Amino acid sequence: MKESDIVDWLYDQLSPNCTHDETMGELEKRVDRCTLEIRRQLLERLTRDVAADAVLGCPDCGRMLAVVVHGRARTVASTVGAIRFGRTYGRCGECGHYVYPADVVLGLHVRAPASPRVQEICALSVLHAPAGRAEEDVRRMNGIDISTSTLHREARRQGERALQLRGRDVELSERESGVASLAARAPKLPQHSTMVIEMDAWNIRERDCWGETEKRRDAGEEVGRWHWVYTATTFRLDQRGTAQNGRPFIADRGYVATRQGLDQFRQQLYAEALQRGLLQAETVLILGDGAVWIWNLAKKQFRKARQRVDLFHVEEHLWDLAAELHGRGTAEAEGWVRPYLRWLERRKNGALDVINSLEELHCELAEGDQRKQEAVEKELGYLKLHKDRMDYKAAKSLGQPCGSGAIESTCSQYQRRFKLTGQFWTLEGDEAFLALATLHRNGRWHSLFPHDKS
Ligand SMILES: [Zn+2]
Repeated sequence: MKESDIVDWLYDQLSPNCTHDETMGELEKRVDRCTLEIRRQLLERLTRDVAADAVLGCPDCGRMLAVVVHGRARTVASTVGAIRFGRTYGRCGECGHYVYPADVVLGLHVRAPASPRVQEICALSVLHAPAGRAEEDVRRMNGIDISTSTLHREARRQGERALQLRGRDVELSERESGVASLAARAPKLPQHSTMVIEMDAWNIRERDCWGETEKRRDAGEEVGRWHWVYTATTFRLDQRGTAQNGRPFIADRGYVATRQGLDQFRQQLYAEALQRGLLQAETVLILGDGAVWIWNLAKKQFRKARQRVDLFHVEEHLWDLAAELHGRGTAEAEGWVRPYLRWLERRKNGALDVINSLEELHCELAEGDQRKQEAVEKELGYLKLHKDRMDYKAAKSLGQPCGSGAIESTCSQYQRRFKLTGQFWTLEGDEAFLALATLHRNGRWHSLFPHDKS
C-alpha cells in the first residue's frame, strides 16, 4: 500500500460531504477532524509498542526489577485525544524504588495527566497569555480542549521544573568543579571577545496572604505588595547585528530574572554568564543606571569588569539640573545643558570637565540661591560617584554600547506578561513562571521538553 492509496481512501471519505462552497479554513478544519481518530489510534498503537518493549530495569541503578503488576492501565491526554496503554510496574530490590519503566522511556511524569506535547502547549500558551485567555487560543490553534485550570496547573508544574533546573545551575556555580562544568557548556568564543552584562529592576505585585484576601481587606489591611524583580541580560559584542529593515538586534542573549533577592540574583547571573562564556571573554562590561545595588553586585561578583553607567540616565540628570537652574523646557536650559552633553560623549575626560565646570558654577552662585546650590550639589554627588563609569568617548571608539537599552527592553518584555492590569501573583507562583519564561528565553526549552530538539 502506497501513501497515495491512503490519501485516495481518505479523499473518498471526505469528498461526498464537501459542499464545494467552503473556504480553505473550513476545509483545513474538515481534514483535521477527519484524520483525528486515525492519528489518535496511530499514536496509541506506537505508544503501546514502546510500553511493551520497555526494559524492566531500574532507572537509578540499572538492575532488573521484580514485577509487581503487569499491564496496569494509564490514560494520557494527547494532542489527538486520550491515549490508553498498559505498562508493567516493578520494584528494584537494590534501591527499593517502585517504577513504571515504560513511563520513564515515554518521558511521562508520574502524575502528569497530559502528554509531553500537551504539557508543552500549556506551558507556552500560559507564558504568552493568562490561562483564561490561553484556553481559547489553544482550541483555535491546536484544535484541542484544555481547561483553564489544567493549563494553569500544567504551566505551573513546568515552572517548578524550571526552578529545579535553575537551582541545580546555581548549586554548580557555588563550587569550583561546578564552575568548570558550567563554563564547559559555553560555546567557543571568538578571540578578544567582549561580554556585556546589563542589569535593572522592576516591580511585581503580589498577594502575600493567599486565601485571606477578603478577610484582610475587610479589616482594612493592605493585601498586595510590590516586590523587586532583579533582571539581567548578557550578550557578546560580536553577537550584535543589524536586520534588513535596519533595526539592531542581538543574535543570542542570556537572561536572568528573579524576585528572590539580590544574593540569589547575583548567583543566578554568575551561573548564566559562565554558560555564555564569561571565563573566555577578554573584556567584561557591566552597564546599568545609577542604582547602587548594581555597582555593589558588580564589585562583589565581577571584580575585573569594566563598569559604565547608562548615558541616557546621566543626560537626564543634567537636564533636570538645567530645569532647576533655568526653568523646564526653556531655551536657556537647553543652551546651558547642550555643551555638557557634548563633552560627555566627545571628550576623553568629559565627565571630569563637567564636574569641574559645575564646581565653578557652585562657587559662583549667589548666597541667596540656596535651592540652586543644593541642586548643583546633588548632581555633583551623582557625577562624582559615577565619574569612572562615564568613558563614553572610549566606548564609541571600541564599538561598545553607552546605554543599557538592551536590559530596558528586556524588562518591558517581562512586564508585558507579568504586570497585566489588576493582576496579582503569589509568592511561589510568580517565581516559577519567571523561571519558566527565563528558561524559554535562554533557548533551553529542550531541557524540559526533549522532543523540542528533534
Ligand atoms: Zn535500583
